[in-house]
Amino acid sequence: PSSKNDKEKGVNIQVILRCRPLSEDEMRVNTPVVISCNENRREVAAVQNIANKQIDRTFTFDKVFGPSSQQKDLFKQAVSPIVTEVLEGYNCTIFAYGQTGTGKTYTMEGGAIKAKDGDFPSDAGVIPRSVRQIFDTLEAQNAEYSMKVTFLELYNEEITDLLAPEESKFSEDKSKKPIALMEDGKGGVFVRGLEEEIVTTAGEIYTILEKCSSKRRTAETLLNKQSSRSHSIFSITIHIKESTPEGEEMIKCGKLNLVDLAGSENISRSGARDGRAREAGEINKSLLTLGRVINALVEHSGHVPYRDSKLTRLLRDSLGGKTKTCIIATISPSIHCLEETLNTLDYAHRAK
Ligand code: ADP
Ligand code: MG
Repeated sequence: PSSKNDKEKGVNIQVILRCRPLSEDEMRVNTPVVISCNENRREVAAVQNIANKQIDRTFTFDKVFGPSSQQKDLFKQAVSPIVTEVLEGYNCTIFAYGQTGTGKTYTMEGGAIKAKDGDFPSDAGVIPRSVRQIFDTLEAQNAEYSMKVTFLELYNEEITDLLAPEESKFSEDKSKKPIALMEDGKGGVFVRGLEEEIVTTAGEIYTILEKCSSKRRTAETLLNKQSSRSHSIFSITIHIKESTPEGEEMIKCGKLNLVDLAGSENISRSGARDGRAREAGEINKSLLTLGRVINALVEHSGHVPYRDSKLTRLLRDSLGGKTKTCIIATISPSIHCLEETLNTLDYAHRAK
């Protein structure tokens, strides 16, 4: 279905494409570029001409950000309107989807997180910029509000709490309850035992983010690049007190999920053997189910298979219905990534 039809039917799924620049190493060895981005026409073309094999495909997205796009521009054009919706009381989700090494974490977290005097380093990503917009808006409105955050990782369909105190995460304590996903009896889910941190300033969230991302980096070296196979979900829930002109009090509740997905190459690697097969299979499940859920929402096909993976169960209250979803698909311009790039372009294009 065309995106115009979707909007008429009230489906709010935006698909954005971002292509990273070549790295210094790639430039040094003159890596051929096979991707060209036309931001004005919102088009991405993949072109490769080798005698026996020709590829020439063009894809259109809701927005396209080329290799020289800046973090602040992507945020302003693609993410900031969604944060505004959250403050109006909607549940929204932003995904980064793509092959490992294409800029998912760069887009979501960016380089340094901490803002000095309200100013970010230019490479600060979507998460810290969203946090700043939320606090700036609430403060400008002089709003009465409360806010809590959760940060979890989904690996092998198992949940790890990134906010849990260090000792409980790595201890051998067998009495420790596993973190379980429970039905709440109202069609929603909750995660039993998940830490919820109440936050009152943007600075507190930046501190949490820095702590958690360094924890993830440590885990990454310990566990052999676990991060490329895990999904991380950072969620902010905001309750805002409002008074109607008649003086009645109302509580508006909005939620923002910021999701750094597992590397999409894990979908195509499902042929792997041994223990890896299970891992690949499980990750396959969450990524594949996410694709199916989004397809079902876009095509209004009736049954939406939320229940088929932990990722989609976790995000159920923020996918479909009166929610806004934004998928930022990330790709590399390099000839060596072309096969995965085409997979990503296809996956992301189907979500439109
Ligand atoms: P992923 O999370 O998808 O595996 P990363 O975010 O870790 O990928 O990015 C891989 C490398 O490329 C990092 O060194 C990152 O800083 C760099 N990078 C990614 N996207 C960009 C971009 N848009 N501009 C500049 N550097 C980028
Ligand atoms: Mg990453």
